[in-house]
Amino acid sequence: MSVLTDNIARAEAYLARFAAGGVLNHIGGRSQPALSGETFTTISPVDLKPLAQVARGGAADVDAAVAAATEAFKTWGKMPGSERRKILIRVAEGIEARADEIALTECMDTGQALRFMSKAALRGAANFRYFADKAPQAEDGQSLRTADQLNVTSRRPIGPVGVITPWNTPFMLSTWKIAPALASGCTVVHKPAEFSPMTAKLLVEIAEEAGLPQGVLNLVNGFGEEAGKALTEHPGIKAIAFVGESRTGSMIMAQGAKTLKRVHFELGGKNPVIVFEDADLDRAVDAATFMIYSLNGERCTSSSRLLVQETIYEAFTARVAEVAERIKVGHPLDLETVVGPLIHPEHERKVISYFDKARREGATIAAGGVKMGETGCFVRPTLFTNATNDMAVAQEEIFGPVLTAIPFQDEAAALALANDVQYGLAAYLWTNDLNCAMRMTDALEAGMIWVNSENVRHLPTPFGGVKSSGIGRDGGDWSFDFYMETVNVCLPRRLHHIPKLGG
Ligand code: NAD
Repeated sequence: MSVLTDNIARAEAYLARFAAGGVLNHIGGRSQPALSGETFTTISPVDLKPLAQVARGGAADVDAAVAAATEAFKTWGKMPGSERRKILIRVAEGIEARADEIALTECMDTGQALRFMSKAALRGAANFRYFADKAPQAEDGQSLRTADQLNVTSRRPIGPVGVITPWNTPFMLSTWKIAPALASGCTVVHKPAEFSPMTAKLLVEIAEEAGLPQGVLNLVNGFGEEAGKALTEHPGIKAIAFVGESRTGSMIMAQGAKTLKRVHFELGGKNPVIVFEDADLDRAVDAATFMIYSLNGERCTSSSRLLVQETIYEAFTARVAEVAERIKVGHPLDLETVVGPLIHPEHERKVISYFDKARREGATIAAGGVKMGETGCFVRPTLFTNATNDMAVAQEEIFGPVLTAIPFQDEAAALALANDVQYGLAAYLWTNDLNCAMRMTDALEAGMIWVNSENVRHLPTPFGGVKSSGIGRDGGDWSFDFYMETVNVCLPRRLHHIPKLGG
């Protein structure tokens, strides 16, 4: 049996339970269909065949999940952090034990290649481990003294929170939000993306098998405008952690306004990778191509705009085109595959529409620009050259393995191009000139900047964007600031003067 056939057989075995029993909601420790009994079909982007029926949750399911999360918060929110830590470490162990199942299920549900997804499953466990270890310090605060008073701050979990996630790397992104929420003492209602619902169900099962009390993590599947909207409007939900498109973020802000929801948004990006002529060009080619063609380019931090100094533009983009042409597109469970099928025909149509836009706007298609095969959402890794920054392919988030290359003359021009988009999530800078790097990193409008590096995450560092790319930061203590309320207690240090009134 080849590795691919073996992987497909294992994936089919894992998926059989969903094919037979559907993807259910999970509320207060119980797996259950939507209260309306309605379902929708999730398909595999590999061959567009149905994988399972999914519970189509709505306002009534959200109500039930919020009630369960509210009840569970009474004990989970009061449990010492050291106790929560033990349970969350066991969740991490449970994820590691089922990493193969998570990775294969996610590949079939999303089309992401296994070579990247197996790491993403383990990253999910790392997220749990990291925030578990921080749980005992979650309540910590500061002591701020004046001559008269001692102010002591501490943090309390905010209450039940809603977590709404997208389809690109659903398992890892869910853990990235849910682990800190649970570590801080919040309870959670999770609404995963309708295109990729499966691994969210695995997560809640793993968590409860590891000892997470019932009702602490609840799952409501469904569409954004139904279950998602109901969650953002629910008065029992104190905050919404959302990862998805910028325009959805703005809808959620409006929906949550009536109940004064606290929001944390990780949104879209059109991230520049800026290559100066003095850079280590071999490493820059590898990093730029990795950051756009891995994970199908369906990645918020993908380096989707390649800004190259004009003196090396032709040679550099020729090398990128060569890499793009060599990349294997194929079945996500084939370990040779770099680019698998895009998530859904709807998204594939969007990505392909940019091939036509690029042609119409006068860019050159230096690699790819074509669909592959009759069935499944496969497109070739694509490079547009001779683009200008006003083109749609330079301004809009395509969210596929599609790179737009633009030449620049000097540092000032590079900076102007880099900042001239509505987004500001990440930027990648390639130069060996330290002074140039310092000037550029001071002025780039991005929440995260990597110098002479691809995106390497260090969990204690802040993650998030500026401009239309988001509000708030995740990672380290920043996550706790979102899921917790800071309370200040002021104590007298001596019998200070208190003004007397009316005497
Ligand atoms: P999306 O905004 O369409 O959907 C995300 C989630 O929001 C889904 O669960 C969806 O059902 C829900 N939703 C949709 N409308 C809603 C509404 N009115 N109320 C409440 N919930 C609603 O995003 P997507 O297409 O699933 O994901 C791709 C996007 O996610 C890209 O823009 C990408 O850049 C972004 N993303 C950002 C980050 C980051 O960290 N900044 C990470 C990954 C993905």
